[in-house]
Amino acid sequence: VNADSGAPTIFDKIINKEIPSSIVYEDEKVLAFRDISPQAPVHVLVIPKFRDGLTELGKVDARHGEILGQLLYAAKIVAEKEGISDGFRVVINSGASACQSVYHLHLHVLGGRQMNWPPG
Ligand code: 5GP
Repeated sequence: VNADSGAPTIFDKIINKEIPSSIVYEDEKVLAFRDISPQAPVHVLVIPKFRDGLTELGKVDARHGEILGQLLYAAKIVAEKEGISDGFRVVINSGASACQSVYHLHLHVLGGRQMNWPPG
C-alpha cells in the first residue's frame, strides 16, 4: 500500500489503458470499470480521471465539490446500465481503518444480490 503519498497507483494505468479493464462507463472526467475481485454480481469502481489530490475521501477539500457530485451521478448511471437501479450500494473506503488499498479516490458500486446492514 502506498498510503496516501500521492504516488501514482494502478488506477493511473487503467485510466491510461496501459492495463486492461472492463469499462462500464466513461466520460471526460469519470471512468467506471469492473472490480477485479468482485464482492457482488455487480461490482464497479467509479473514479476521477484526474486525481488532483483526490487520494481519499478524508482528504478532499472544497474545490473537489463538483467532481464529487459527478462521481455520485456516475454511480447512478452505472446502476442503471447494470440493471440494479432498484437496489444497490455505494461504498467509499477512506483510510487504513476502512481497508482502503488504492489511494486514488473510488466509489464501489455493488449490487445484484441482497445487501446486508450493518456492513461489518
Ligand atoms: P479499496 O480497498 O481501496 O477500497 O478498493 C480497491 C479495489 O480495487 C479493490 O476492490 C480491488 O479489488 C480493486 N483493484 C485493485 N487492483 C485492481 C486492478 O488492477 N484492476 C481492477 N479492475 N480492480 C482492481
